[in-house]
Amino acid sequence: MTKIIDGKEISRIIRAEQKKKVEILVENTGIVPGLAVILVGEDPASQSYVRSKRRACKKMGVSSHDFNFAPDISEQELLDLINILNEDPEIHGILVQLPLPKHIDDNKILLAISPDKDVDGFHPQSLGKLVIGMETFFSCTPFGIIKLLEYSNIEIEGKHVCIVGRSNIVGKPMANLLLRKDKTGNATVTVCHSRTKDISYHTKQADIVIAAIGKPEFITADMIKDNAIVIDVGINRVNDPEAERGYKLVGDVDYSEVSKKTSFITPVPGGVGPMTITMLMYNTILSATRFAEKKKMEK
Ligand code: NDP
Repeated sequence: MTKIIDGKEISRIIRAEQKKKVEILVENTGIVPGLAVILVGEDPASQSYVRSKRRACKKMGVSSHDFNFAPDISEQELLDLINILNEDPEIHGILVQLPLPKHIDDNKILLAISPDKDVDGFHPQSLGKLVIGMETFFSCTPFGIIKLLEYSNIEIEGKHVCIVGRSNIVGKPMANLLLRKDKTGNATVTVCHSRTKDISYHTKQADIVIAAIGKPEFITADMIKDNAIVIDVGINRVNDPEAERGYKLVGDVDYSEVSKKTSFITPVPGGVGPMTITMLMYNTILSATRFAEKKKMEK
């Protein structure tokens, strides 16, 4: 029988552990972890995500600093703000909610964030350090997946993992996290994408399949070997006239059929989703801890 990996429960455990860390940090150093969240425009999905981040900060004793702007803010104004936040000792993490309006270059903005405060792990320096095995911030969603596996006592070392999707925020950092020379790495990794021939050939050989495609129920039961572990990153809205909101959320995996074959599987919602903000909190607290250590060394 398949075991459902409960992202809400694992998230709750990690948040409780991290809240304790905040209490100890504040008690020993007086430093309160601070997260700056920059939101441009009024995209409802981004607004809702930012609200969830604010709630998580409040619950965990992290101070949340919100910067909301109209969509016509200039690129320079945003860069100026980031420069100020980079120097602010009360801010340990800076997050810019993507996507930004078309007249603003996402990469220019991400590059402006100090790598010491890059709690999203999107700065090229953070990604580069991950690739060569240096200490850095790991992107929240892939890092959350590592934690889901770890807290479910699933061994990663030596496993063959097939990732479907090669985006900069999920697929690529995921592959590199799994390749680290670490107990929660050391996997053999295959990465598939839209130009891969016969995706099923690759997924069928994998012990762990990670789907990050953005296509509802793309991974079907015939693409998975018996007893595989399946992690579904996808969040897709599909019309559902019976649902109150007129739509429901489904993953990139055909859950009802695939779950009959797997040993472990994540549901959507309630699997990978809750972990992303949890790992954002984790990275912000880690950043504040590093800041406190640096300050102590300077004394
Ligand atoms: P992107 O659109 O940036 O990337 C999708 C990837 O899937 C690309 O690499 C693309 O290939 C590949 N792909 C698309 N169509 C196919 C196909 N037919 N066959 C094979 N590969 C294909 O998406 P993201 O990585 O940002 O997100 C993926 C999903 O995960 C989305 O549903 C998103 O909502 C969700 N998500 C969930 C998060 C969470 O917190 N749970 C966080 C982030 C994302 P190519 O590169 O060749 O174009």
